[in-house]
Amino acid sequence: MLTAESLAELRVALETERDQLVRQIDDIDEDAESIDDNFADSGQVAAEMGENLTLVSALREQLADVEHALAKFDDGTFGQCEADGAPIPVDRLEAMPATRFCIEHA
Ligand SMILES: [Zn+2]
Repeated sequence: MLTAESLAELRVALETERDQLVRQIDDIDEDAESIDDNFADSGQVAAEMGENLTLVSALREQLADVEHALAKFDDGTFGQCEADGAPIPVDRLEAMPATRFCIEHA
């Protein structure tokens, strides 16, 4: 059973995760900009920028999931499986607050 207290805790956890993701993405973006100015044509830097792009797109996907989960607090559907509307067990939400599905539909 999802209590108001655990809902509040999960929301804080998601907001914290969102802030961390935004900061990580910003850091990588800043790195990429400083690389651009100085060493734009080095192969090693190009490889590094490719890795950064992969990392940034993974982080952006996580961020989208987290923001999606936060939006569900506003429409009152947080904690419900998006496939069947069933309540997602609290244990599962605590392990991954941004999950969209119950175990059966994961
Ligand atoms: Zn489900």
